[in-house]
Amino acid sequence: MIKSKEKGMLIVVSGPSGCGKSTLCQQLIKIRDNITISISDTSRDIRGSEVNGIDYNFITKEEFEKNIKNNKYLEYAIVHSNNYYGTPIDNIEKNLNNGIDVILEIDIEGAKIVNEKRKDAIFIFIMPPSMKELKQRLVSRKTEDKDKVIERFKTAYKEINEVSKYNYVIVNDDIDESLDKMNSIITCEKCRVDRIEDVDLGNQEEIIHEILMNFNK
Ligand code: 5GP
Repeated sequence: MIKSKEKGMLIVVSGPSGCGKSTLCQQLIKIRDNITISISDTSRDIRGSEVNGIDYNFITKEEFEKNIKNNKYLEYAIVHSNNYYGTPIDNIEKNLNNGIDVILEIDIEGAKIVNEKRKDAIFIFIMPPSMKELKQRLVSRKTEDKDKVIERFKTAYKEINEVSKYNYVIVNDDIDESLDKMNSIITCEKCRVDRIEDVDLGNQEEIIHEILMNFNK
C-alpha cells in the first residue's frame, strides 16, 4: 500500500477585503473533515457582529507587541490603518501534527513570510470578478466608513498585483463554484507524489507464489 503523510496541510488563503474569502473558508470547513481555520490576533477594533475569540482574538497594540517579542507569531503584519494582525503559532503545529489541515486567512505580506518559513504550505488567492464588483461589495456591506473603504480598495489593487506568487487563483464569481474549486485544490494537493511517506508493495515472490497456487487448484 502507498501511505500518504498523516500530517495536516497548511493552506494560506489571501485576497482583497470583500472578495468573499472568509465566507469561502467558513463553507469549506463545513464540507471537509479534519480542517480548521486559524484564529488570528489583531489590534484593530471589533466591528459589526464579530465575536472575540471566534472571528479574531482582539487584543491591544501593547499586548500584540509583547507577543511579537515573545515569538508568539508564525507571521504578523501591519495591515489597514496601522493595525497589527498575526497568526499565533502554538495551535498550528498541534493541529498539523494531529493530521488536521489549517487555513490561514492572511494578507499578502503575511503570506510571503509563511512562504519563506514553510515550503510545504499551499497558497490560494481569491479574486473578485471585477474591481467594480469589489467596490460594490465593500460599499454595500457597510462595515467600514468612507475612508476605510477607499483604503481597502487601494490595498486591493496592490494585492491583486501579487497574484502570480500564489499557487492557485479562484475568481469568486459564484460561491458554490468557488467552493467546489477550493475543495478540489485541497483534494488534489493531498494526492501529490511528494506527500507519499511510505510505499509497501508486499513481497513479489510471495504474491507470485499465491497466483501459481491459485492456478494449480
Ligand atoms: P479585516 O480587518 O478585513 O478582518 O482583515 C484585513 C486583512 O488582514 C485581510 O486581508 C485579512 O486576510 C488580513 N489578516 C487577517 N488575519 C491576519 C493575520 O493573522 N496575519 C496577516 N498577515 N494578515 C491577516
